[in-house]
Amino acid sequence: FKVPAIDNEPMVTYAPGSPERQALRAAIAQMEQELPFEVPCIVNGEAVKTGVFGKQPLPHDHANHLCAYHEADEATVAKAIDGALAAKGEWESMPWNDRAAIFLKAADLVSGKYRYKLMAATILGQGKNVWQAEIDAAAELADFFRFGVKFVEELYAQQPSKNSAGAWNRVEYRALEGFVLAVSPFNFTAIGGNLPGTPALVGNVVLWKPSPAATYSNYLIHQILTEAGVPPGVIQFVPGPPPEVVGQAISHPSFAALHFTGSTFVFKKLWKDIAANLDKYKGYPRIVGETGGKNFHIVHKSAEVRNAVLQSVRAAFEYQGQKCSALSRLYVSQSVWEGGFKDQFLEEVAKIKVGPPQDWSNFMGPVIGRPAYDKIMGYIQKAKEAGGEILIGGTGDDSKGYFIQPTVILSKDPKSITITEEIFGPVITVYVFPDSAFTSTLSLIDTTTTYALTGAIFSSDRSALLQATNVLRNAAGNVYYNEKCTGAVVGQQPFGGARASGTNDKAGSVSIFYRFVSARSIKENF
Ligand code: GLU
Repeated sequence: FKVPAIDNEPMVTYAPGSPERQALRAAIAQMEQELPFEVPCIVNGEAVKTGVFGKQPLPHDHANHLCAYHEADEATVAKAIDGALAAKGEWESMPWNDRAAIFLKAADLVSGKYRYKLMAATILGQGKNVWQAEIDAAAELADFFRFGVKFVEELYAQQPSKNSAGAWNRVEYRALEGFVLAVSPFNFTAIGGNLPGTPALVGNVVLWKPSPAATYSNYLIHQILTEAGVPPGVIQFVPGPPPEVVGQAISHPSFAALHFTGSTFVFKKLWKDIAANLDKYKGYPRIVGETGGKNFHIVHKSAEVRNAVLQSVRAAFEYQGQKCSALSRLYVSQSVWEGGFKDQFLEEVAKIKVGPPQDWSNFMGPVIGRPAYDKIMGYIQKAKEAGGEILIGGTGDDSKGYFIQPTVILSKDPKSITITEEIFGPVITVYVFPDSAFTSTLSLIDTTTTYALTGAIFSSDRSALLQATNVLRNAAGNVYYNEKCTGAVVGQQPFGGARASGTNDKAGSVSIFYRFVSARSIKENF
């Protein structure tokens, strides 16, 4: 086997007057007209309607919702697990070329036929602006499926390097024994597709619980995978409340793995629940998780100021800061801060327009929902009480949608609450350090939080870059020099962090596929 050359999906710019812009506008308008949608669970290829509804509200207009979904109940989850296990034999023994073809076709459906519909669902339902939806629901999702095929080929090609005379040694990469539970987040439609997609590509069957706040886009992905040829039962779509779906899956004897993206708190809880059930399982479950972040930029005195300013604005405020990778603590050398950074940074932030995401002039849309709004506003309040200076922003308006102004806090306390805890919103805390304190600030960055996802270093001095990289060895799984700490590209920057940020199994690379296979060595004598 050998798949044809694979490349990243080219980004569409949606330039004024372009046909793509028109097509996307039309898709959004149509979706606005047709909503709300009804979303069933999909079990064994069939729609299951439990009649107990959850809702996915429009974050920019919370009186309305994008979809009402049938919540999976106990019987539905049980049926989904049994059905997945029944579908397993045929799926894992399907020739690799055929499984690969299904995912290559799914990628083409994402980047072609369904592009605008998926984007419209992401824009309206998850509050992304057009360009944020493009890099996620169109480009990254297609990349995950296409590169996934290439990565699995690399994995399967890993074979013993030596045969003894008259014998052939080989390794077979079996799917895990049991089923995989995928629990996906609201903030990336692409991750919605990748969490069930990665284990399924290597022959696993999957129970997929999407985030309630991304139900509709994730349901479309399920439709795409089905249209591409994923057989009934292989990926069971079971939206619903965590205790029912996740709890039931984890206490099942055939539970084999968890593929998770979400909060550190929930991930730790699931890990403990899995441990409590360990004696029930046939084997040791694989636990793969990408969780929180408290990501940093450090701006050295030698930095190119304009670049550091623009990259920091983007990293902090694109998608309202709701990326695990988003910048939330910014360390700036004093001479740079006073010599132009501060003024330029605040000037750029002041230009940011906040409003409904389908209005193309808004750089920032709403935050995802009521709990997020309250939590973020609560942190801003706590920062004020603790003496943080709000340089810009600090206000919100939840009368129609969950809108929060981009907020910059200046903190003299390097361990203040907004510099240590994950906020997951459009709030950045700046800490200014003396030019002479670069070395001690690196140690400070390393020890300030429990997270270690992403970070960026801005400097034109190579020795400063190297020093930072060495001191911050364990402080980030993705490091960028002179570029923002968000926006890892599949196949280019394997993504993930350690410490409280996750198991660092690197989405968008071959490594993560190893976690969802169980190798068998076979020696054959002739
Ligand atoms: N991979 C994304 C990035 O590099 C972040 C994914 C996430 O938020 O979980 O920006």
